[in-house]
Amino acid sequence: MGHREALRRQRDFFKSNGTRSIPFRVSQLKRLGEILRRHETALYEAIQLDFGKSRFETCMTELALIHGEINLAIRNLPYWSRKRRVPTNLANFPARSFIIPEPLGNTLVIGAWNFPYQLSLIPAISAIAAGCTVIVKPSELSSNASHAMAELINEAMDPAVIRVVEGGAPETTQLLDERFDKVFFTGSTSVGRIVYQAAARHLTPVTLELGGQNPAIVLQDCALPMAARRITWGKFLNAGQSCVAPNHVWVHRSLEDELLSQLRSWIQRLFGENWSSRENYVRIISDKHVDRLAALIDPEKVFVGGRVEREERFIQPTVLRGVTPEDPVLEDELFGPILPVLTFEDIEEPMEHIKSRPRPLALYVFSRCRRTIDKILTEVPFGGGAVNDTVLHFTNPHLPFGGVGQSGIGSCHGEAGFRTFSHFKSILDKPCWFEPFLKYPPYTRTKQKLLQLLLE
Ligand code: NAD
Repeated sequence: MGHREALRRQRDFFKSNGTRSIPFRVSQLKRLGEILRRHETALYEAIQLDFGKSRFETCMTELALIHGEINLAIRNLPYWSRKRRVPTNLANFPARSFIIPEPLGNTLVIGAWNFPYQLSLIPAISAIAAGCTVIVKPSELSSNASHAMAELINEAMDPAVIRVVEGGAPETTQLLDERFDKVFFTGSTSVGRIVYQAAARHLTPVTLELGGQNPAIVLQDCALPMAARRITWGKFLNAGQSCVAPNHVWVHRSLEDELLSQLRSWIQRLFGENWSSRENYVRIISDKHVDRLAALIDPEKVFVGGRVEREERFIQPTVLRGVTPEDPVLEDELFGPILPVLTFEDIEEPMEHIKSRPRPLALYVFSRCRRTIDKILTEVPFGGGAVNDTVLHFTNPHLPFGGVGQSGIGSCHGEAGFRTFSHFKSILDKPCWFEPFLKYPPYTRTKQKLLQLLLE
């Protein structure tokens, strides 16, 4: 079935109020959860083919998060979707006021390749929970995973509710020509711009989950071994191909040597001397990305790693030292296993640098000093982040996840995801037994005084 036919069915189904009832939405979410569990071996194998990734890592970074979102939505749907009473102001007396969450309608989710399942399916879960229909367009780069997802979902789910459409830029362009009621995009800032413009033609609201250069700031008073350990894990998970991976580290000059040696020992401990062991370290997604990353490794600055095996699409976890803000390696988001380390004397230096660049998706601060932590959290703009950790704020569904400025518009996960696919319809409900004379002509000074008293 082509995307036009799927969209036609979804439009008809939505118009017929098919998605409105909460039990129906719950049944769809349950079904999705069941088929993902039943066929999880196929899903694990596809990711293995795309990335050489272990089952453990796919479970941790993809499937467990998806099931967590499904369960959270099922548990909370009656609460999230309830009609809410709000107070009524005096000028409108007597009346009741309430807000009704309403599904936006027919939606499109465009996914990125780096976590192909969860980046496509978590927004789709939010869409179904909110009572929308959804067409999911995963990335063509993670082709095995996208294909596995399409086969599974298109076989087992009702196309009037959810349909996976495979393809790259041309297919996405065709989809964007259609009128949707919401477009949810995850990917690069440059394609985000294209999607935003295409959606604007139909005045379709968008959520854009984009990238950025996420800094980690390591202060003098931090718990250093733990900082090094958590930075190593967050950076080299998925070989750095995570939107929330620390892009680079700013470390106080006095700690530079110690941090570098701790990073080296954690890399060795987590991935082993013989780094080509495939079990715990994933591949780079394509030759093009291997070449892009290899060109960014300045051999003069390599402190750890630096080895590239192009035919295997492996790049060793690499740490660069002596990097300055002007180096080419800091021009764009790295999105790979290269960790540049920069030093500072005064915390104002990294803060100034971050503020003068596009707003990052994430920021990580390592310190024991509440005042400095609060200063950074309140003065530096960024999407979200963690104190004394990396990446894991993404995994708490109670935290709305999203960027700001060039790192994105809007948010997802948990209730934030439900809200993203909902419209909040505001209603003032009035009885007919009372109608004050105030608002009607003739307009007099006394009426105006009374009106001001009520409204101001
Ligand atoms: P991408 O922008 O190249 O592709 C994203 C999607 O857009 C894919 O489905 C692709 O098929 C489609 N696409 C590509 N070119 C297109 C075009 N010209 N017209 C229409 N559609 C097009 O991004 P990517 O390489 O898949 O992902 C990497 C980027 O995504 C990084 O910048 C990363 O930071 C970001 N990202 C952000 C998040 C987040 O949650 N904020 C999560 C993961 C990745």
